[in-house]
Amino acid sequence: MKEFRYEALPMRVTFGAGSLKTLPEEVRALGLRRVLVLATPFQEDLAWTISRQLGELSAGVHAEAEMHVPIESAHRARDAARAADADGYVAVGGGSTTGLGKAIALEFGAPIIAVPTTYAGSEMTPIWGLTADGEKKTGRDPRVLPASVIYDPELTLTLPVGMSVTSGFNAIAHAVEALYAPDGSPVISLMAEEGARAMLNALPKIVKNPAHGEARSDALYGAWLCGATLGATTMSLHHKLCHILGGTFNLPHAETHTVVLPYALNYNAGHAPDAIAALQRATGVQNPARHLRELGVDLGGPHSLRELGLTDDDIDRVIELATHHPYANPRPLTATGLRGLLTAALNGDALPSP
Ligand code: NAD
Repeated sequence: MKEFRYEALPMRVTFGAGSLKTLPEEVRALGLRRVLVLATPFQEDLAWTISRQLGELSAGVHAEAEMHVPIESAHRARDAARAADADGYVAVGGGSTTGLGKAIALEFGAPIIAVPTTYAGSEMTPIWGLTADGEKKTGRDPRVLPASVIYDPELTLTLPVGMSVTSGFNAIAHAVEALYAPDGSPVISLMAEEGARAMLNALPKIVKNPAHGEARSDALYGAWLCGATLGATTMSLHHKLCHILGGTFNLPHAETHTVVLPYALNYNAGHAPDAIAALQRATGVQNPARHLRELGVDLGGPHSLRELGLTDDDIDRVIELATHHPYANPRPLTATGLRGLLTAALNGDALPSP
């Protein structure tokens, strides 16, 4: 018998090729006068194009977003927002830029309009992250949830193939863990299964032809659904491990998700029958963990954590950090079990056949 609680997150989503043109209308609809456009240095040109499109609604551009939101970067952005007299923010880019918008909103509470250009999904969550003294802290706060999200697949055409694959796996990881989350619900499971299916079907087409408009649209649609499942649930072992590997060992975010996901799913598979059934439907195969591993490698993703910079000597510390604070996971966490998982991911070992 089912038992669940589901809380819908309040935000508006606009989706479609060319939908960036609705941004000025969206700024006005939120009652904003002057929005600061945020981006990474790499996407500064795009930020200025958007600023020009906004005309007098733009308070300028702050193109200094960095991965994992260093606290100094958050302080500079807050100063820039204050100096520009901004009453809202447009975060155009991936999770790093959305994260910077969240760091400002955490302090000032002003609304964010997110314009995602990767599949990371941060725009759909009330989760913020800040890094200080080499440690990344995260938390949930409704003030950092974007008020509006504009998904324009045309902005993802420039996302390099390698990043499209790893960012896509980052999205699928949200869906996988939402399917066995302690606070999952039927509507979240539907979104997770559909999101994973859309992304899994789109990625091979994007690898073949990065300008495939329909595949880009399907991938971003999948990213939206997967991101929404991340925003609505508590994550388990997979996200915990990736958080440790990124925060403490500085491994790259999306690539780490790509390597770890099949091993984390394999670890939990015997304890999450409904999740496995949903992923079997989404993938069309018996062993979704093995399929994810093979697909990631076939599409040119990284093979192993060693390749990303982890060493044998690091394993003990990862286990220590992963078992330090107990958290929900379908299969109980044991040092021996984790060592098996991490050693296989470190070496990129093949997963067993079904
Ligand atoms: P990213 O935002 O760091 O982007 C990586 C690089 O790709 C940047 O230089 C960016 O400018 C560039 N880029 C982005 N879109 C592009 C495009 N369409 N074309 C060309 N270049 C493009 O990478 P990410 O994986 O999206 O985000 C990772 C960060 O997001 C991590 O810090 C992670 O912790 C965080 N994150 C947070 C949440 C959350 O809910 N809080 C969820 C997912 C990820």
